[in-house]
Amino acid sequence: LSQRLDKAWDLVRKDGKLTSDNIKEPMREIRRALLEADVSLPIVRQFVKSVEEKALGVKVLKGVRPDQQLVKVVNDQLVELMGGQQEDLNDPKDGPQVILMAGLQGVGKTTACGKLALALQKRNKRVLMVATDVYRPAAIDQLVKLGERIQVPVFEMGVDAKPAEIARQGLAKARAEDYDAVIVDTAGRLQIDPAMMSELREVQATVQPSDTLLVVDAMTGQEAAGLVKAFNEAAEITGAVLTKMDGDSRGGAALSVKAVSGKPIKFVGTGEKLESLEVFYPDRIASRILGAHHVLTLVEKAEATIKESDAEAMTKRMLSSSFNFNDFLQQSKMMSSMGSMGSIMKMLPGMNQISEKQLNDAEKQFKTFESMINSMTPQERTNPDLLAKTASRRRRIARGSGRKEVDVTNMIGTFSGMRAKMQSVSKMMKMNSGMPGMP
Ligand code: GDP
Ligand code: MG
Repeated sequence: LSQRLDKAWDLVRKDGKLTSDNIKEPMREIRRALLEADVSLPIVRQFVKSVEEKALGVKVLKGVRPDQQLVKVVNDQLVELMGGQQEDLNDPKDGPQVILMAGLQGVGKTTACGKLALALQKRNKRVLMVATDVYRPAAIDQLVKLGERIQVPVFEMGVDAKPAEIARQGLAKARAEDYDAVIVDTAGRLQIDPAMMSELREVQATVQPSDTLLVVDAMTGQEAAGLVKAFNEAAEITGAVLTKMDGDSRGGAALSVKAVSGKPIKFVGTGEKLESLEVFYPDRIASRILGAHHVLTLVEKAEATIKESDAEAMTKRMLSSSFNFNDFLQQSKMMSSMGSMGSIMKMLPGMNQISEKQLNDAEKQFKTFESMINSMTPQERTNPDLLAKTASRRRRIARGSGRKEVDVTNMIGTFSGMRAKMQSVSKMMKMNSGMPGMP
């Protein structure tokens, strides 16, 4: 795969900008990569479409390679599709927190109950587990054993009681004994079937859980979409647990969960041990789905290069004669996001004419200036000379920003001085180094 992608990127690289033509081949590769990661086809289609739309809107910044930019769009979209950020369990409305576990047989529900119980215990909660899988005596034993390992009691009524009744009595016990959390294990089937769904719905109606978590085996792949849809329609889920991510699955099922149900993956199971539960980080799974390490490196490089090229463009603006208050504002915003003006200036040759102290003072003033610039009209921002001429404009800005008129006058003076200095620096640079592309 990584070789195929490399070839596709090469195609984009030559053109220098993203067009519907030159992203066609790399997008085909992305599509293939997603299918190889076992993402279901409709979701792949939907994803590819949204990436194409985003990619075409993106301007390729100078200094950023088009393939870097495209891969960043792909990565960002993957993360967004999986829910952006990590989401925790819901808080209960009243009484104990109730978590209902659902899912097919063998996906790791019972194990996930133990894992969650341990996690909640670590948050200083008293947890009770409830065994409603009455179809296999071994299932109850399994939960009881897990409970013993972490000292979490298990409520069970053997195999003859009805699941909803067990759940009802379990919750009553938790209420009476002041437990903080109840985790209800349920029975799965090998396939989606109506009996399982109606049983699940009954238990859900009885305990009114704050979370109904669908446990999905990461190896499920393509079928995950249908599975999530069926469960979410039968018994509305609040999220999912993606298990067996310690295996060699690429995690394509993760994409389906959010896309199909709109619900987040809340946890990831990474082993058979009860400690092997992690919160879900979409960006990590995105990396895994994209697979190839070199794709990730591209994403990181793109981020770094985009920052650099912003700084370069800004430096050019600063040195040009049309430098105005908008640039000024953007400059100060950029400085707070990427470090000092000094570091921007250091990228340029022949900059030792401006002292470090002068730069620092300028930086401090920028903050004060920002508020005044915010009170300017668009014309005033693009044409700084308007302000030098008209006192009423200066008065209005002073009022608007809660400062004195003299502050505004000083600001204009500083700005003009700065602009003049920039221009003389620019002239000097042209003489000294003849930096290409400088105004
Ligand atoms: P249930 O039928 O849904 O309750 O599934 P179980 O909890 O009984 O788990 C089925 C099997 O999967 C057991 O052998 C577990 O040890 C194993 N299992 C569960 N979660 C994970 C996981 O995250 N990673 C690995 N490798 N195995 C797991
Ligand atoms: Mg089980």
